[in-house]
Amino acid sequence: MAHSKNNQNEINIRISGLSNGLYEYHFSAEPSAIGLDANFYQAVEVNAQLEKTSHQIYIKTEIETPGRFRCDRCLDEFEISIKANFNMCYMYNALETGKFPSEEIQAISPDTVSIDLTEDIRQMIMLSVPLKLLCAENCMGLCTHCGTNKNHELCNCKEEVSDPRWQGLHELLKH
Ligand SMILES: [Zn+2]
Ligand SMILES: [Zn+2]
Repeated sequence: MAHSKNNQNEINIRISGLSNGLYEYHFSAEPSAIGLDANFYQAVEVNAQLEKTSHQIYIKTEIETPGRFRCDRCLDEFEISIKANFNMCYMYNALETGKFPSEEIQAISPDTVSIDLTEDIRQMIMLSVPLKLLCAENCMGLCTHCGTNKNHELCNCKEEVSDPRWQGLHELLKH
């Protein structure tokens, strides 16, 4: 098993001249260089395992990178580790592609020089960002009256609780 470590801006595996076998790669890429936005600010670590046979190249990719986001509820910044993985099979003979789910397969020509994983990795990271961004499951959010972040301090605003016993009186007073 061959190992190689690259620090580069494209996550690219050279396959021309590669003999059949199992290979491992590690990439450490600048987030901006692979098209990620400013939520990502530290190297994106990618481990890829490649298996080549005469018919196909199968690549298993594991991605990890920290991301900094703003909480939907309290607007504080928080950091989470984004992890994603995907598998892709690159087949020399497009007719054999039925063996894999369509999203995991691509046809390549026998004289393909290299496989560029950059765009797949960028998309997998974006898809792995949670839709609901919360600094904590039980984030208390901001006070709707004074804007205090209730995770950090208590404010003196009273929640307006309507007392059902007064409801009837209010109705009467309206008329
Ligand atoms: Zn929060
Ligand atoms: Zn308040």
